[in-house]
Amino acid sequence: MGAWSPLHFGAVWDNRGMQVFGNYINGEWVTAGPTFENRNPANTDEVVGLMAKGSAADVERAAEAAQAAFPKWSQLAGPARGNYLFKVAELLDQRFDAIAAEMTREEGKTLPEAKGETRRAINIFRYFGGEGSRLPGFLVPSERDRVHMFALRKPLGVVGLITPWNFPIAIPAWKLAPALICGNTVVLKPASASPLCAWRIVEACHDAGIPPGVVNFVAGSGGELGSALLNAKALRAVSFTGSTEIGHWIHAEASKRRLRIQLEMGGKNPTIVLADANFAAAVENVVNAAFFSTGQKCTATSRAIVEEPIYDRFLDALIERTKKLKVGDGMSAGVDIGPAIDQAQLDTNIRYCEIGAKEAGAPRVGGKRVTGPGYDKGFFFEPTIFADVTSEMRIAQEEVFGPVLAVMKAKDAADALRIANEIPLGLSSSIQTSSLSHAFDFIYGAEAGLLTVNLPSAGVEYQLPFGGTKDSSFGPKEQGPAAMEFYSDLKTIYLKY
Ligand code: NAP
Repeated sequence: MGAWSPLHFGAVWDNRGMQVFGNYINGEWVTAGPTFENRNPANTDEVVGLMAKGSAADVERAAEAAQAAFPKWSQLAGPARGNYLFKVAELLDQRFDAIAAEMTREEGKTLPEAKGETRRAINIFRYFGGEGSRLPGFLVPSERDRVHMFALRKPLGVVGLITPWNFPIAIPAWKLAPALICGNTVVLKPASASPLCAWRIVEACHDAGIPPGVVNFVAGSGGELGSALLNAKALRAVSFTGSTEIGHWIHAEASKRRLRIQLEMGGKNPTIVLADANFAAAVENVVNAAFFSTGQKCTATSRAIVEEPIYDRFLDALIERTKKLKVGDGMSAGVDIGPAIDQAQLDTNIRYCEIGAKEAGAPRVGGKRVTGPGYDKGFFFEPTIFADVTSEMRIAQEEVFGPVLAVMKAKDAADALRIANEIPLGLSSSIQTSSLSHAFDFIYGAEAGLLTVNLPSAGVEYQLPFGGTKDSSFGPKEQGPAAMEFYSDLKTIYLKY
């Protein structure tokens, strides 16, 4: 293999001299046909790439290719599959800086955030590469004489992966790596707003020599390709991360065919701040979780529930700290908060600020699009805080997915936990306290799948299960050892000797 450059042979150039990134079906790059633009949300004049726009027929072909590749791939020894994943990790590592910069240009997050996410994707491939040598089943003693009984893990077949735009490399990685190590073959449909990072993983899979048909990639309209994927005859399972609305639709469609599904959806995550917390650390943790990555994390804090004795002081400190955050192009040093992903998300931020202002009064800081030189061509929005929010307000119940924080007052720790749980969603939840008792009351009482104590509500690692509860999630958890549950089945054997 020659030296890698970001202009890879899987991409061709259109008649304006622009790079077109192809779909990947049965080991071949498919660039013919219509394309769609991938624009920089910090500067919409910049086209980061032109993506080949896949069709329903492409999805069907991809699923057939995956089905044809399944017998050989699934019979390969686990450690041999692991070696391919190690190779993918190595290639991504070699391309680390270019991929991170491309992520900032296509998704808008700051370069340090993009580097952190790229590193995580590499670690995920290494972690699941190692799982190839384990793939644990069960071996237990029988009640009967001379009976040997055990259970083996076996792959499902063709798995569809549908990913969102906000973690454009980590989420494709944390679905693809466990799917492959378990022996499945895959059709990956990335988010249209940030497909290039997922494309880079597929490119690394190709360069690592993963056999044709094992990994397939089709970019394009979620509605069209999503339906085609759910109807593809070869499909056995779908793992989806995205909005609650689309997740519920996938649930309904997949149930008609009894497909195995895993849905990770929205959050409206609380951070409880008690009077006994380390005050300065709690301010940092709330600001970090609410505003970094532009609030576009499913685990972001969007409700700060603060105990009465420190409420006013904490609110003032939050506002002061938030005013110091720098909004701008994520490629520039010193920028804390990049742009919203697109015009639709910017409009959502603006709409929810109007709703919040009617419900809770004017925001105490922020609430507006950032304009002026260096901002007018991007989707920049001020980090925003509403105060004195109460649970019945929409700003306390509905996911904004932007840098908008609702601050709520609680009488005491028990009241704070009640408010935190007073919502249909349950992805992540956090508490800031120095009391072991309050921490454990929270650990046992919080209705969420991911909990943090004295840390931001966002910022998880890949070695433990990931996923929510209530309306945020459906099906087995992702990441860590739990990921194997979704991507494999158990075959139980009783043997008399
Ligand atoms: P989205 O609009 O639901 O899209 C997610 C993916 O589904 C995209 O690839 C999209 O394609 C595709 N899609 C759209 N319509 C579809 C359909 N009818 N059938 C099948 N697929 C379809 O979500 P998003 O705006 O990308 O992401 C933001 C949401 O994701 C937020 O709600 C956030 O909380 C959630 N999220 C959750 C987690 C978690 O782990 N719980 C993690 C990250 C994000 P197109 O892009 O082409 O429309």
